[in-house]
Amino acid sequence: MTDGQSNGLSEKHIDGLLLRNFEAPIPILSFEFVPARTDAMEQRLWHCIRRLAPLAPRFVSVTYGAGGTTQTGTLSTVLRLKRETDLIPAAHLICVGATHEDVDDLARCYRDAGVNHIVALRGDPPAGAADYSPRPGGYAYASDLVAGLRRIADFDISVAAYPETHPAASSPDADLDNLKRKLDAGATRAITQYFFDSEIYLRFLDRCLAAGITAPIIPGIMPVSNYEQIVRFSAVCGVTVPAWLRHLFDGTAENPELRRIIASMVAVEQIRTLQTYGLNEFHVSTLNRSDLTYAIAHILGVRPTQTNASRNVTDLLETTEVPDDRETPADFDPTKGTQEGAPPFMLRTLFG
Ligand code: FAD
Repeated sequence: MTDGQSNGLSEKHIDGLLLRNFEAPIPILSFEFVPARTDAMEQRLWHCIRRLAPLAPRFVSVTYGAGGTTQTGTLSTVLRLKRETDLIPAAHLICVGATHEDVDDLARCYRDAGVNHIVALRGDPPAGAADYSPRPGGYAYASDLVAGLRRIADFDISVAAYPETHPAASSPDADLDNLKRKLDAGATRAITQYFFDSEIYLRFLDRCLAAGITAPIIPGIMPVSNYEQIVRFSAVCGVTVPAWLRHLFDGTAENPELRRIIASMVAVEQIRTLQTYGLNEFHVSTLNRSDLTYAIAHILGVRPTQTNASRNVTDLLETTEVPDDRETPADFDPTKGTQEGAPPFMLRTLFG
């Protein structure tokens, strides 16, 4: 508009737009997968792995269901990743419901298979149980598990951190002390509970630094396309769902495509914002759906590379039929507990 030009508007540079910042450092991503419980899920999981492997993630973690329900699934997925790909698998391992011996045996199994990265967690009490109480003869807390793992092998150990404080912690400071205990016991890094408001994470990082924590605190990124489910889950695990997120998803219940576009936009903006504060490593929950994670990675400048990791997994699965990567109607029905991709510990919390 000539008016604008005469006011000098056209001479102003449009900068600071996060998406245009293609010269920003390319982030380092790691991905979280969920063990499959059915053949269809297994297909989708490996399709997801095949699709994302060329993005050369730093590592890929495999969750562990509460109450030992998917112990076998975690083990077999991690061992297959180790055996058949060059990706670096990280096995989630929890204390709940198992004796020292059970957990140590599993850890030795990983060690003997050459799996070096463990995500050491306490886990949640089984559905319907009252407050957490440690199992006699088991590891009580994640810090105890980390110490136990250290006695078994020189594992690379990640632990959980909670920018909004773990719901059962007696105070934010006590929770921070606990994080410090886990790192002092031998963990290498923490991966955070997901969060939506970057300021919450940044304030938490300040508190970590003030407490003398220098280990990496990797932001956990949860791309949200099933908004209703995430609202319910967030209420249980003490994560704030900001009004702006609700506003973005308002009126989209019948429109999965739109939801996926929003989900990728939100995750990209979150990562780009954190990059402006110098953070460059992020752990992304894939929920075994590659398309959203792939889109997010692409927008952030992460492009496929022909690493051994990708070549091997691609060769391996070249002939595998590609299942539909999109959410099924059930995935979008918040009243149904059938979202196949959701981590079992989430499903249990959400749907009892
Ligand atoms: P801890 O670090 O042991 O802390 C648990 C609570 O106990 C905290 O409130 C802490 O402040 C308190 N506490 C610690 N030590 C003491 C002590 N000595 N005395 C009193 N209180 C203490 N769950 C799964 O089942 N499977 C998974 O695969 C899984 N993956 C996850 C991945 C990430 C990145 C995150 C953030 C969470 C994951 N969870 C998983 C959920 C996790 O198991 C729950 O949040 C669980 O309630 C706490 O686990 P933690 O390892 O943080 O426990």
